[in-house]
Amino acid sequence: MKDVLNIDILIKTFDDLTVGVGIFQITDLNDIKSIRYVFMNKVILYEMRKNQEEVFGKRIIDVAPEAFEHEAGLQVIETYRKVAKEGGSINLGLVEYSNHMVAGTYECSVHHIKDNYVYVMLRNVTELEQAKNELEQKNKELNEFAYIASHDLKAPLYNIANLIRVLERKYKGKLDEQADTILNFMSEATGRMKNLINDLLDYSSIGNEKEMITVDCQELVEIIQQDLESKIKETNTVIEVDALPKIQGFETGLRSLFQNLISNAIKFSKPEVTPKIKISAIEQNGWTFVIEDNGIGIADKHKDKIFSIFKRLHSKEEYEGTGIGLAHCKKIIDLHKGELWVDSKPGSGSTFYFTIPNHLS
Ligand code: ADP
Repeated sequence: MKDVLNIDILIKTFDDLTVGVGIFQITDLNDIKSIRYVFMNKVILYEMRKNQEEVFGKRIIDVAPEAFEHEAGLQVIETYRKVAKEGGSINLGLVEYSNHMVAGTYECSVHHIKDNYVYVMLRNVTELEQAKNELEQKNKELNEFAYIASHDLKAPLYNIANLIRVLERKYKGKLDEQADTILNFMSEATGRMKNLINDLLDYSSIGNEKEMITVDCQELVEIIQQDLESKIKETNTVIEVDALPKIQGFETGLRSLFQNLISNAIKFSKPEVTPKIKISAIEQNGWTFVIEDNGIGIADKHKDKIFSIFKRLHSKEEYEGTGIGLAHCKKIIDLHKGELWVDSKPGSGSTFYFTIPNHLS
């Protein structure tokens, strides 16, 4: 193998990587000043604004003494020594450099090679982090906008609804048939608009819960079943609930998540078929919850669309609703850093899955 694998090939490979890779030798495992650059690939040399001759074989303390004067630099250098001495790997996550590297945010991990050698992997994620922060800020503004808009729309709408009621009381059945039809339309339309605005208000309030707490999902689902009692009785729905865990999460959010999924499972049932719902949970890198129904199902081409806000597959005459419920669920799951998806065959029911990763209490 030695005949075919030479050092030039290795160096070319490391230089072509888009991630920074650097090898260090720690001559004295108890002295960070003894650490030497063995090899730095092009990405790291570029971030240091140095060339090979200035760096290879030299000690960090001689090439970049300023690294020893900053907390982030010292932390990384100390990690080289620790990993060389103790073995294994340490993932430092995001490190803010402002010294011998281009100032910015780096993803950084250090790994043992053998004896006194370690390698570091570095990725400059400054722009990515900035974009992430800007996106978060924009999302926050959008949320506030949705909240203010829906909140301020509520008062005039309630006034209109009241005035329509006055008109209905005074004139319904007393004018011609067309007037009655118009009054009915107006009253229905304002009713729908009220629902939309309330849903939008709820949607923009998700994320206001500051702290995760221990939530007993078994208890939560029992309460939701009580809340939905009249709907369950009316439709003869049978709900089977397996043992559900206690998890760390946002309680109000989780309650509305289960409520939306269970309500949908009841609502989108097949005509003449008793709705049957099974709720269970599997432990696997956190928890995966499963809500299975025997309803109308969802065609493949619609499976992603339904999680968008105001997306509906049916007219309000077929199934009532505003199309915000699943967008709501998606937002709640995003806050828990989980996933939400559906598996379904039209006519054979749907199974909604969501994951809640383990959160520290
Ligand atoms: P809404 O229930 O107000 O229509 P949702 O956002 O909760 O809004 O759902 C969006 C669409 O996804 C629904 O209109 C329906 O077409 C489809 N859907 C949701 N849940 C189910 C389900 N359990 N079975 C079949 N279709 C469903």
